[in-house]
Amino acid sequence: MKYIDEFRDGEQARHIATNIAAEVRPGTTYNFMEFCGGHTHAISRYGIADLLPPNVRMIHGPGCPVCVLPIGRVDMAISLALDQGVILCTYGDTMRVPASGGLSLIKAKARGADIRMVYSAADALKLAEQNPQREVVFFAIGFETTTPPTALVLREAQARVVRNFSVLCCHVLTPAAITHLLESAQAIELGAVPIDGFIGPAHVSIIIGSQPYEHFAQTYHKPVVITGFEPLDVMQGILMLVRQMNSGRAEVENEFSRVVTPAGNPSAQRIMAQVFEVRESFEWRGLGEVPGSALKIRPELAAWNAEVKFDLAYTSVPDHKQCECGTILRGVKRPADCKLFGTVCTPESPMGACMVSSEGACAVHYSYGRFRPAAHTKIA
Ligand code: SF4
Repeated sequence: MKYIDEFRDGEQARHIATNIAAEVRPGTTYNFMEFCGGHTHAISRYGIADLLPPNVRMIHGPGCPVCVLPIGRVDMAISLALDQGVILCTYGDTMRVPASGGLSLIKAKARGADIRMVYSAADALKLAEQNPQREVVFFAIGFETTTPPTALVLREAQARVVRNFSVLCCHVLTPAAITHLLESAQAIELGAVPIDGFIGPAHVSIIIGSQPYEHFAQTYHKPVVITGFEPLDVMQGILMLVRQMNSGRAEVENEFSRVVTPAGNPSAQRIMAQVFEVRESFEWRGLGEVPGSALKIRPELAAWNAEVKFDLAYTSVPDHKQCECGTILRGVKRPADCKLFGTVCTPESPMGACMVSSEGACAVHYSYGRFRPAAHTKIA
């Protein structure tokens, strides 16, 4: 298949691996963070960690939208469905994220809440039009990739005056999270690992472009290579990072140039700016409060903002005491370091958010890495 097969060629992968092994300097450690859960998935699924020299370490970042969703936000969604009687719609992965009191959206559904899995925000709007006597709320999560469709649907609801529809907006922003990782006092207090460079997100960068990462190269002297999700993309991205480090460069390079441009998608950015504004602060699971890291619905669209419509207030709730999601999302620990991994906590019965999504570090390690000693020691 075009753009798939040629990026999964084992011979080419071994060739790039040989180049990486030849170019890394003995005595130097290369700590690279792949911000995005899609890359975490690819690294484990294709055994990429096994192809890397021991002094190249890949650190899983907080770029899995389900994993960074704090318990308090899931509680808000559950309370809308259980206490306010709304039809609550959301994406499939969100259904199993653990909430307070042993609940999750799927468990709340089993208790009688009207919670429905949808494939798009547009499906939720359609449901509202089909059920004019009911309130329908779309629980919107995700990074810049999933934000433009939510924005379009909000505009559509306004244009068609669908009054029984609203959005509980939990969309988050990638560059703010990277800044936080690099400079937050809290992250340092809680423990953080040195990061020498970033594998930049693929899909997010299609929307925002490569320019927003220039700041990390210029201000923090951290190389960024925007990389596609196929195994050869990731291998090539790692090689490009090694070369930048070896030559003392810190630049934004674009390995995924078949899709990502410097400016990104201006139409998507325009609609996002029309509908959303940046929140002062937002709590991320694992990172705590991150300034300017999420979006809220603009006042002009307050009638479609579930937080305003249902007068919702956010309450922060600590994670399960033994869950290490927070330290894993900051790159300090690995899934196998958690006492609950693979015993009490499995993808069928997740105790923490990192075990829920196929992009979550714990779920990925459970699926692809737990029986592989090399992957076990070098990478989650
Ligand atoms: S294995 Fe489960 S409980 Fe442990 S860190 Fe991962 S998600 Fe949390």
